[in-house]
Amino acid sequence: MKYIFPISVALCLFTSLVSHAFYPNKTKYAISLSFDDARKSQVDIGIPILNKHDVKATFYLMPYHMKGKEQQWKRAAEAGHEIANHTASHLCTGNFRWLRKQNKGLEQSSLSFLKHDIKQAQQYIESHTGATPKGFAYPCGQTFVGRGTEVKSYVPLIAETFNYGRTWNDETANDPFYYDPAQIRAFSMDGKTFEQLKALIEQAKFDNAWIVLAGHEVGDKGAYTVDHGALQQLIEYIKDPKNEFWLATVQDVNEYINRKTRGNDKS
Ligand SMILES: [Zn+2]
Repeated sequence: MKYIFPISVALCLFTSLVSHAFYPNKTKYAISLSFDDARKSQVDIGIPILNKHDVKATFYLMPYHMKGKEQQWKRAAEAGHEIANHTASHLCTGNFRWLRKQNKGLEQSSLSFLKHDIKQAQQYIESHTGATPKGFAYPCGQTFVGRGTEVKSYVPLIAETFNYGRTWNDETANDPFYYDPAQIRAFSMDGKTFEQLKALIEQAKFDNAWIVLAGHEVGDKGAYTVDHGALQQLIEYIKDPKNEFWLATVQDVNEYINRKTRGNDKS
C-alpha cells in the first residue's frame, strides 16, 4: 500500500501539468493587448512600441478618430495587428456629458440605429485599411439600448455580425471552457504602473485563463492613458517564457479556443 499514494500523487501531478499547457508552445495562460477608439497616440506611440517588440495587438477603430491617420492604420493592418470595429457614433449611456450635449445616448437609441452605425464603421475601416474587422468592442463596455421594461441587449446583433464582441472594465479573465465569445471580458490597463499591471495579471490568473487588457491613449500616465514605460515592461514580462503566457490578438486567441474546445472554425 505504501507505494500507491506516491504513484497517485505523481499521476495527479502529471495530468495537471498536461492540462495546464492548453495554449500554443505549452503555455498555460493566454493574454491579449487591445486598444479602443483609434486614438492618435496609438499609432504615434503605441504601435512603434509593439512593433519594436514584435507583438501583435488588437485595435478597435472608429472613423472619427482615424481621420488624418488612415495611412498609419493601413500600415498597422499590414504589419499584422488586428483591426476591429468600435462603431461610428460611440454611443454609451447618455449620462456622459459629451453625449448629453449632443442629445444622444444608448437609453434613447435602437437596435436598428446600432446596426446601421456598426455597418458605417465597418465600411470606413475596410476601405481605409484593407482589413475586414471580425471583432467588435462595445463602446464603454455597455451592451444595451432603451430604458426600463423596453431595454434590449445588442449582444445578439454582435453575435450575428462578428466572430466575437469584447466588453470593458470587467473584473475577471475568461474561462476557455465557459466564456461567451459575444461578451469577452476585459480589464482596463489605463493609468496603471507596471507593478499594478503585473499585480492585476497575477491576481486574474487561473488554470487556462485568457486575460484581455484594454487601453485608450498611449503616453505618459493619465486616467485614460496606458503609460508607455509600463507597456514596455509589461510586454517584456509577458514574453518572458518563465511566465508561461501566449500573447496573441483577441481574434487569434478566440479562434484558437473555438477550434480546440468547440470543434468549430469560423475563420
Ligand atoms: Zn471607446
